[in-house]
Amino acid sequence: MIIGILKETGTENRVAILPAEVVALKKMGIDVLVEINAGERAFSSDIDYLKAGARTAERKAVINESEMLLSINPPVEDDINSFREGQILCSVLNPSVNHTWLEKARLHGLSVLALDLIPRTTRAQSMDILSSMATVSGYKAVLEAASLLPRFFPMFMSASGTIKPSRVLILGAGVAGLQAIAIARKLGAIVEVFDVRSAVKEEVKSLGGKFIEVEGAKEDIAAGGYAVEQTEDFKNKQQELIQQRSIASDVVIATAQIPGRKAPVLLLKETVYSMKPGSVIIDLAASTGGNCELTENGKNIIVNGVNIIGKSDYPSDMPSDASKMFGCNIINLLKIMVDKDAKLILNMQDDIINGTTAVHGKEYVSQRVKQMLNIK
Ligand code: NAD
Repeated sequence: MIIGILKETGTENRVAILPAEVVALKKMGIDVLVEINAGERAFSSDIDYLKAGARTAERKAVINESEMLLSINPPVEDDINSFREGQILCSVLNPSVNHTWLEKARLHGLSVLALDLIPRTTRAQSMDILSSMATVSGYKAVLEAASLLPRFFPMFMSASGTIKPSRVLILGAGVAGLQAIAIARKLGAIVEVFDVRSAVKEEVKSLGGKFIEVEGAKEDIAAGGYAVEQTEDFKNKQQELIQQRSIASDVVIATAQIPGRKAPVLLLKETVYSMKPGSVIIDLAASTGGNCELTENGKNIIVNGVNIIGKSDYPSDMPSDASKMFGCNIINLLKIMVDKDAKLILNMQDDIINGTTAVHGKEYVSQRVKQMLNIK
């Protein structure tokens, strides 16, 4: 079997598979064909890929020869007709944003595997691209905040006086939020945390953060460990408490998301205006609307002396390790798809494959995609 690695377009710096992971694929009996310069922005040259046992080729040849094509983002700028019926495309998909493209791919008879739909189950943990990329985002968000803040993170007692530690407020203690707590604590800041899921309380505490509880949060087991939309009463109480804690903070890292919906607005305009000048807000939920009312996706703005960074693509800023983690996740997924003779089998009885397959055989497969796109 031949797997093709496509070069990303736009501002994306990552690549789906690095040379070290080519070696792992070769051991599974898979041949790897890499588009020329695919790894350039992740600091891996074509020579590195050749040394690892891959071949390199122009995009057209990669598409023509490969049974399966891997990329970070869906190759939406390509004409769907350049792919063969029955060919498998595997990338992060974001089905609601790329609905039109997905519909064309379905009608063309392509099989599309959406890595952002891999079920969040124990068996699929080693394939969980959302978790690995959120780890990068949480880490980078804290580093960016620390470098923008006009103050130290840790406490200092020196001959030049005592410097108080900075206070960091984390909104949402999912994978990115927990990583942000760990890094902010390592840098010596005092960390306070809000979340609507009571399950994270102990994790926050064990990382050295203070969990601020707002009574009356709505939780739903059917949401599979994810947060759900809250009542108006809860939202008002939470916004009031967040306002109080933001005013006392130097940094806010906002990561709160509700899958398939717009991100909850937790930091109001008035809150930003009452924060200390020089404070920093990093809004990792920017691409889904932002947790801060003033966030502009993809932009750094300053309001009343407060830096608001609307950024959801930190993994692209750390392309070496982010690509490494991405590639390892894909290899773990391929391990359940490829048999001992290196033959690719899409077993729709397997909950991971079924949940990850957006379209196959001209049909929508994943229940979550159907729900997101309102398909009966
Ligand atoms: P996410 O990106 O969907 O959301 C980030 C956080 O924001 C979540 O903790 C959520 O509760 C919180 N949030 C949402 N609305 C909020 C609000 N109004 N106020 C405050 N906080 C709010 O989450 P994620 O990082 O993708 O992970 C969510 C959960 O999925 C995990 O904590 C875990 O339970 C589960 N998970 C399981 C696996 C696995 O078993 N393979 C892997 C990763 C995550």
